[in-house]
Amino acid sequence: MTGSGGLWEMTQRIVILGNGIAGVAAGREFQRRLRAKDSVSVSVLGASDQYVFKPLLPDALNYHAATKPMATIFPSNGGKAPVQFKKVIVQGISLDPAKKEVQTSEGPVPFDSLVIALGSKSAYYNIKRADSHTIPLEEPVHLHRMQAMILGQLAAAAQKNTPAEQVPLLRFVIVGAGATGVELAFELRQFLDKAIAKRYPQKIKIQPEIKIIESTNDILPGFSAQEKAYVKQLLKRAGIQILYQSSVTEVTEAHGVTIIDKTHPDSKPTEVKPGGEPIWVAGVKANPLVASLSVEKFPHNQRVKVNPFLELPNRPDIYVIGDAAAAVDPNTQQVLPAMGQVAEQQGAYVARDMLNKWRHQSRNPFSFQNKGVMLSVGPQNGMVRLLDGWLLKGYIGSLFRKWLYRYKMNVGG
Ligand SMILES: Cc1cc2nc3c(=O)[nH]c(=O)nc-3n(C[C@H](O)[C@H](O)[C@H](O)COP(=O)(O)OP(=O)(O)OC[C@H]3O[C@@H](n4cnc5c(N)ncnc54)[C@H](O)[C@@H]3O)c2cc1C
Repeated sequence: MTGSGGLWEMTQRIVILGNGIAGVAAGREFQRRLRAKDSVSVSVLGASDQYVFKPLLPDALNYHAATKPMATIFPSNGGKAPVQFKKVIVQGISLDPAKKEVQTSEGPVPFDSLVIALGSKSAYYNIKRADSHTIPLEEPVHLHRMQAMILGQLAAAAQKNTPAEQVPLLRFVIVGAGATGVELAFELRQFLDKAIAKRYPQKIKIQPEIKIIESTNDILPGFSAQEKAYVKQLLKRAGIQILYQSSVTEVTEAHGVTIIDKTHPDSKPTEVKPGGEPIWVAGVKANPLVASLSVEKFPHNQRVKVNPFLELPNRPDIYVIGDAAAAVDPNTQQVLPAMGQVAEQQGAYVARDMLNKWRHQSRNPFSFQNKGVMLSVGPQNGMVRLLDGWLLKGYIGSLFRKWLYRYKMNVGG
């Protein structure tokens, strides 16, 4: 806290780490609620000058931009706007109450209150070469890598004279049959169909293989049996094969994915060999910077345990939200999943809670409102389950999902 006098004469320095869904939602809520008389400065610190709305990343393989410039969300107004965005890399966080500051690529940033919203990274479960020899999907740059890999495979296949020679070059492998893996598989099919029709209509006559490797015996955790059955039908129609109960044991130097069949643990490992690099979307764990903090975390994914107000226990000046946090839903007693709608609601909540706290107004613990789920299952196909039990499928579902995600990215709320 800086300055002197009563609470509202002093300037509260609120620093939000991360400009993803949770950090941007927190900044937007401050933007909406801060009044001119509030002596509060809010800084959002993030590594990129673009807001990446991750739920639209799979779609961006084909058409839809998944980013929005940060400057349009938090215009600086010559440094006068109440919420300022700064493009910096956060390098360290000092939680010491005597030295409350964040180390960044542009020097230290002191704070009175801190919101840690640094998100998550792909989880590789110590599987050999999974981190170095596969392509994850965390940022737009990974889509560019994917596109380059796919186009490279198509060009190589077009040089071959026979389908038998083309088949191994046109095999694509995705590890993980959760929502991201399934959405990406449909987008990949569309990308391949379009690229072949445009570039090699005479030279490539076979349908490229798409295989999803999945360690459990089902797809889409969190979806109903009816929804899964619908999606499986569409996957089959799109020629996308799922290898169930297949645990990846290593990724080879030549980008092969070695798997063991969990139903026959004594059987020999086999290799699934894609033409190019495999794509890895097999789960997430907290950002390494968050994982390095000396606070209580869940060992398997390093998400930080927070109290019902999303604060670090005994540290009312520090909140952790979004994928970095493991908040327990009071209604189910389960840890809330790493999902966009959780991150967005937590971001808006912390801004409101901080203002309530400082204005000496009553506070309520965070309560998650599940609004339903959405999934893209091909260019013209979406599946949307709204909370009151409505299931929108097909083109209407696809339109609704795209509209809602783009609204959330552009406007928030
Ligand atoms: C491909 C994909 C598809 C998804 N689809 C869906 C979906 O359909 N529905 C759904 O509900 N959820 C979906 N999710 C999950 C959802 O996107 C996340 O739960 C959500 O983004 C978490 O928000 P967050 O703010 O905690 O983290 P993020 O949105 O990841 O934001 C973290 C931010 O911190 C920044 N950052 C990280 N480290 C540093 C650093 N050292 N210095 C500065 N800045 C840093 C990052 O650049 C990023 O902007 C998807 C995730 C992925 C990857």
